[in-house]
Amino acid sequence: MAINLNSDSMYKNQTPGQLSLIAALTSAASITMVVVLLSLFGLFTVSFEGITLLFLMVLVIDFYANYYFVRHYLYRKIKLIYKVIHRHKMSGEFTSEKVDMDRHILSDVEREVDEWAEKNAREYEEMEKMAVYRRRFIGDVSHELKTPIFNIQGFIYTLLDGAMDDPEVRTQYLNRAAKNVDRLQAIVEDLETINKLEAGQMALELTEFDIHDLANDVFSDLEMRANDRKIKLIFKEGADQHYNVRADKESIHQVMVNLVYNSIKYSQEGGTTKVSFYDMETYILVEISDSGVGIPDEHLPHVFDRFYRVDKSRSRDAGGTGLGLSIVKHIIEAHKQTINVRSTPGQGSTFGFTLEKA
Ligand code: ADP
Repeated sequence: MAINLNSDSMYKNQTPGQLSLIAALTSAASITMVVVLLSLFGLFTVSFEGITLLFLMVLVIDFYANYYFVRHYLYRKIKLIYKVIHRHKMSGEFTSEKVDMDRHILSDVEREVDEWAEKNAREYEEMEKMAVYRRRFIGDVSHELKTPIFNIQGFIYTLLDGAMDDPEVRTQYLNRAAKNVDRLQAIVEDLETINKLEAGQMALELTEFDIHDLANDVFSDLEMRANDRKIKLIFKEGADQHYNVRADKESIHQVMVNLVYNSIKYSQEGGTTKVSFYDMETYILVEISDSGVGIPDEHLPHVFDRFYRVDKSRSRDAGGTGLGLSIVKHIIEAHKQTINVRSTPGQGSTFGFTLEKA
């Protein structure tokens, strides 16, 4: 047990064991001095051996007494602190014997308290962020649901108020109400998907597959919608090779459907949607380019935000929920890959995402 006697902060740098020894040395020295002084004044005589024995006895007894009391004191204080900072109930494992008197135990506790305070501050910040996010999310959702509900309400009450007696109006209003019900369903389904993705509940089933074949399937799925708008779905020249990737096939299918469908929705009739593949070192870059309306610069950073629409009426007319790109981004990020967009208004947009090469 080396005692630091030189420094200014002599007591600060000692372990509790060293402090007990210093206190015992001080007491032993003081008592011995008193006895020596009294003997000098002739009150009694005491031999050198007697003085040495007295010094050693006081030192040993005092040291053990100090050691015991300091350890017990520290144990009670530290236990109290641990009760506050450790959330789990403390089992009987922390006893006064566990207080290591040869370590700078108070510095250790201080460090633990600092770490605890820091962790708490981080958790609080996280909770605050989540609360803001939840509030915004609920606000967005109710805002989105309001319009179709309001529309359905309007059609039904108008029918009940007499419009249903006119067969033509009745069919027209029922069709419109049905369209709004479809919209509600699409929003709820997309919200469910986002919820699962954000909760990390959507387990990715990684398999190897050919992204070119998958894009071909997506072209077939959307062929009718493309034909309706006279839009050509093509591969970039030279992109007819096979590109094997490792990803969750079903969710990447959803990504491709969303991006290709957007390219159809946001293009003038007679446009072209082109899919390209670029073979990079460790990944395949997939790009979906259209010759559509494009996205102004100021909107580009937000198109992946949920419920964000550049042209609200165009999106709603096309049955969009404003959640498609947000889902796409979540899926790509769940694969630890990236997605980006380039666009020029009036010329078209290109959405590109990467996939791990198989
Ligand atoms: P939506 O259901 O409205 O299509 P998305 O999340 O898929 O929602 O897209 C968000 C917005 O981004 C759209 O409302 C549209 O304004 C814009 N957008 C998406 N894809 C394109 C595209 N290919 N060309 C132009 N604008 C697009």
